[in-house]
Amino acid sequence: MLADDFAADCYWTRDAPLPEAPDAPLPAAVDVAIVGAGYTGLAAARETALAGRRTLLLDAGPIGGGCSARNGGQVAFSLKPSLATLAARHGAATAARLYGEGFEAVDALRSLARDEQLDCDWREVGCFVGAHTPRHFGALVREAETQPEGLAMRYEVVPRARQREVVDTARYHGGVLYPGDAAVHPARLVRALHARAVAAGAECRDHTEVHGLARSAQGFELATARGRLRAREVLIATNGYTGRFAPWFRRRLLPIGSYIIATEALEPAQVARLIVAGRNVGDTRRVVVYYRPSPDGRRILFGGRAAARETDAARCVPRLRAMLADIFPELARVRVSAAWMGFVGFTFDTMPHFGVRDGIHYSLGYCGQGVPSATYYGRKIGLKIAGRPGHETALDGLPFPSRPFYTGNPWFLPWAIAGYRLRDRLGV
Ligand SMILES: Cc1cc2nc3c(=O)[nH]c(=O)nc-3n(C[C@H](O)[C@H](O)[C@H](O)COP(=O)(O)OP(=O)(O)OC[C@H]3O[C@@H](n4cnc5c(N)ncnc54)[C@H](O)[C@@H]3O)c2cc1C
Repeated sequence: MLADDFAADCYWTRDAPLPEAPDAPLPAAVDVAIVGAGYTGLAAARETALAGRRTLLLDAGPIGGGCSARNGGQVAFSLKPSLATLAARHGAATAARLYGEGFEAVDALRSLARDEQLDCDWREVGCFVGAHTPRHFGALVREAETQPEGLAMRYEVVPRARQREVVDTARYHGGVLYPGDAAVHPARLVRALHARAVAAGAECRDHTEVHGLARSAQGFELATARGRLRAREVLIATNGYTGRFAPWFRRRLLPIGSYIIATEALEPAQVARLIVAGRNVGDTRRVVVYYRPSPDGRRILFGGRAAARETDAARCVPRLRAMLADIFPELARVRVSAAWMGFVGFTFDTMPHFGVRDGIHYSLGYCGQGVPSATYYGRKIGLKIAGRPGHETALDGLPFPSRPFYTGNPWFLPWAIAGYRLRDRLGV
């Protein structure tokens, strides 16, 4: 089952190693301390540094070593709730602005990649969403056809009879293709955002966990693995990795593991037949799966929720491989070259959250869709800290819900997942 070159590590960093930060002592004081050096922190750091604020990014692990270098690299419209749900919660005007920002986030990344030549292997490959049941096909088509006016994505309905033109499987009952969706190389995106932040003057320290955060006369005092530090402003950009140093935020985030495998190198012609035109693919199951070819077109990267409880990535190989073979039976004996996982930051209202709480800035909770939105809201929170125009967002001031007795450990997840799997099996 395992290829000779198998490693339980992230495929993306094999050809794009994560940037290294200087192994230097901390400055005594900075203007802005950013906790977490993923897309959010990196995008924010560039803006605060450009505005002349001494900015220090701190990460407990390597730069980008959270979700940002280990995701599926799929770029799509990034709001989970429907417009109607948002309108019921926040009113029609806010809902429309929120929806608009979902599109802007994708456009902003497109423009960075195309116009500013951000080296992230941007490809406009589109995304096919396969219907798990005939009923799901009907719902997918209805959803595409009834998109709100002025806020609609281009789409193409692919009936089952034409499905193999898009993805060579009998598993789905047709689906909908969204041609405007894109793919990036996640670790190259980290490298490119890091290079921009450093070029703007931001400093970084990796392997420097922040384990304490307290108010002080001039702002905040941070206790870190490299000693103490004062900062006028602090940004929490720790998403699904938010720990005990920030309990108010931890109580509002659900860290949920997502697991990916990369197959061994296959014949490029086989990969191009199975997933036509290098597209992203997902389906309508509640326990989500997502897959795409590797940028060199030789492997399939296949991700999803492989276990009821969190575990290490290598243990998920048999399950993920079986899920892949369920879609492409000819891959039943494929060997696996890499397996890895990361903690996605979900929230109770399946919305990202952005703002200031007790003087602490935050941008968090992208619910598995942070490639465009963490980059987008990261930049905005950086502008906000710097007091520069362009930081306004419809997320500002929205309530950030928690649940009674929840402290940051989603102990109920195995039961929820079992329920979702049962519904998937029953096709409801
Ligand atoms: C397997 C997987 C697949 C995914 N696929 C996609 C996809 O295809 N498309 C998409 O849009 N999104 C996807 N996502 C989600 C996306 O990767 C995230 O939403 C995005 O990377 C979040 O970026 P971030 O900077 O907010 O957080 P992260 O990149 O997770 O960074 C948070 C950082 O905070 C650091 N940190 C935490 N606590 C501390 C502390 N106390 N001190 C210092 N540092 C700390 C962590 O070490 C980490 O590096 C996926 C996620 C996973 C795990």
